[in-house]
Amino acid sequence: MTTRIEVAQEPFTGLDFLKLCCTRLKTAPFLILQFTPLLAFWTGLTTGDIVFGVLMYCFIIFMITAGYHRYFAHGTYTTSRGFQFFLALGGSLATQKGALWWAAHHRNHHKFSDKKYENGDEDSHSSERGFLWSHFGWILSEKSDRTKDENIPDLMIYPELVWLNKHYLMPTVTFGAFLLLVFGPSTLVAYLIAVVLGMHGTFTINSLSHYWGWQTYYTNDESRNNPLLALITFGEGWHNNHHAFQKSPSQGLEWWQLDISYLGLLVLDLFGLVEGVTQKIPTLDKKRAKREKFLRMKEGAT
Ligand SMILES: [Zn+2]
Ligand SMILES: [Zn+2]
Repeated sequence: MTTRIEVAQEPFTGLDFLKLCCTRLKTAPFLILQFTPLLAFWTGLTTGDIVFGVLMYCFIIFMITAGYHRYFAHGTYTTSRGFQFFLALGGSLATQKGALWWAAHHRNHHKFSDKKYENGDEDSHSSERGFLWSHFGWILSEKSDRTKDENIPDLMIYPELVWLNKHYLMPTVTFGAFLLLVFGPSTLVAYLIAVVLGMHGTFTINSLSHYWGWQTYYTNDESRNNPLLALITFGEGWHNNHHAFQKSPSQGLEWWQLDISYLGLLVLDLFGLVEGVTQKIPTLDKKRAKREKFLRMKEGAT
């Protein structure tokens, strides 16, 4: 484990979180959603609901990691306009806002990784403000409401994406109503459990992946590699790899670094739905150069 880079930053405390929740009505839907899994005590869950919930968790995580993150935020591979819309639509079922909002904030994360957060135009979830902030405090903040259009000119040219970004809740509400009316309340609750777990799975990459694990490559930030986080987020826990090679469609860069989202992308590539998933993988030379730079920095620090 390396020491954190020095940034003078006021932490976002539990008290700050409470104040935010009490003073901002817009935080209510998010907070209520966190408690909806408890409805399972009332509805019960059938075996079919549990299987459905697990499949929905896998779908949500894949759509966020392979779609929102590796496609919209980083453009690590290409696809058709139709499948691009499917990725945005499927990702919206995770209720992590629209693909454009997500990608625009994420691009700032890489541009200003772990730097001091002052007015919302830096790393939106800078880990320097503490765990609570980087995990979900930032999402509830007024400063994070806006889609940072200026970061995503390449995506703003698609009116269907702009429309979906504005109406990102519509697919979730429609899908939830369908589940309730056709399969009953317990299936809806299984979906909500998948949504909440999917949210926190994704959030660990903004929070824990900048605290817990090891660094392999020089990145000048706090990104870490962590196999447990990689497992629950289908490969995103190889976060130091990702910060070092942001254009790589695969974040597991060694044979033993399981990256389920990348395996999924290879399958989509086989069916011709996506292209270029093997093109931007870093070469051995590039990996060695960043590894050696990191070792030199460490030696210089001791
Ligand atoms: Zn990223
Ligand atoms: Zn990061």
